Amino acid sequence: MQEIRVSLGDRSYPILIGAGWLDGIGARVRAAVGGQAIRAVVISDSRVAPLYVPAVAASLRAADFAVAEIQIPEGEQHKNLAWLALVYDRLIEAHIERSSPIVAVGGGVVGDLAGFAAATILRGVPFVQVPTTLLAQVDASIGGKTGINHASGKNLIGAFHQPRLVAIDIDTLKSLARREYVAGLAEVVKYGAILDAELFARLDRNVPAVLRQDAPLLSEVVATSCRLKAMVVEGDEREGAYRAILNFGHTLGHAIETLTEYRRLLHGEAVAIGMVCAARLSQVLGWLPRSDVERIEGLLRRLGLPTAVPSDLSADQLALAVEADKKAVGGKIKFVCLEAIGKTRFEVLSAVEIANAAVAQP
Ligand code: NAD
Repeated sequence: MQEIRVSLGDRSYPILIGAGWLDGIGARVRAAVGGQAIRAVVISDSRVAPLYVPAVAASLRAADFAVAEIQIPEGEQHKNLAWLALVYDRLIEAHIERSSPIVAVGGGVVGDLAGFAAATILRGVPFVQVPTTLLAQVDASIGGKTGINHASGKNLIGAFHQPRLVAIDIDTLKSLARREYVAGLAEVVKYGAILDAELFARLDRNVPAVLRQDAPLLSEVVATSCRLKAMVVEGDEREGAYRAILNFGHTLGHAIETLTEYRRLLHGEAVAIGMVCAARLSQVLGWLPRSDVERIEGLLRRLGLPTAVPSDLSADQLALAVEADKKAVGGKIKFVCLEAIGKTRFEVLSAVEIANAAVAQP
């Protein structure tokens, strides 16, 4: 078992990473939340609950928690106020107390919704993340961002609420759809591209082993990604300036997701395309050598990720979508470029400049 500490003063917490240890989670939750908690509430979704909640709940009971279980239907469309309201009802019926942990078992959808419930019910209760998608293990479960979608946009309602514990069992990834797993790899490539040339090179050398989820390699790669995310969060807990480096590939990725109505591409797939565009733009601006652009594009492609903007999207459409992004200020975007693999720099660019570079032929 590997342990990584996220150091945020009195909001510090451990990330535990191992294989096949879900049935030992109860004792770790008990250690994280202290002796006085009587109840724990497990929140999961309809796909993940039958797979992993029985083991988690049994382990919590063995650690002297009375356990209530809440299920939401799987899927991003349920990360909304209507399902949150239902979760509040169930939490109150379960007699949740200020000391009772909410334990999220699932992907980023469950983690975000359960985390927001934990941030707000009774003005905040302890929160534990048990992420079961690669995206949630290396990204969504760490950093304390919680929230739900609004009809007019994703993640518009939310709160920062750090978990007390992030418990990662990489064996849960075995049941994950291949496409979801590969999409999560895009975020891992991102960490390598922006912060860690060695991680990038390791992925580059080991594509077949990464794809077959070789356990020692995968736990190392997940742990390195968590360490990098923890480092960024420690440097900028509430998303001031520094945390924005995590937006590498996301400005265009979000625009592409919006324009394809979140139906055609998974988030990681759109981010993969966005990263290639950002790398190319970095090259055009004279910062990144062409050989590095090719390495990034080549790695993403070998992992099975898309690398080109869908041909039916125009530069004009992309520019409008980039400008509408909630991170644009006065039409200008602080865009994350690369100077090298493992090193970023910010460039203030217009949406039109970004969009034109995205659709330009290499
Ligand atoms: P998800 O939670 O929708 O999970 C994807 C699918 O995989 C779902 O159908 C789910 O039921 C299923 N699943 C999950 N684990 C499984 C397993 N082990 N075996 C089989 N099926 C499994 O999607 P996601 O990609 O994990 O997360 C996306 C969400 O995360 C988005 O809502 C996004 O906004 C959010 N997010 C949050 C942060 C943050 O910092 N809070 C960061 C990135 C993304």
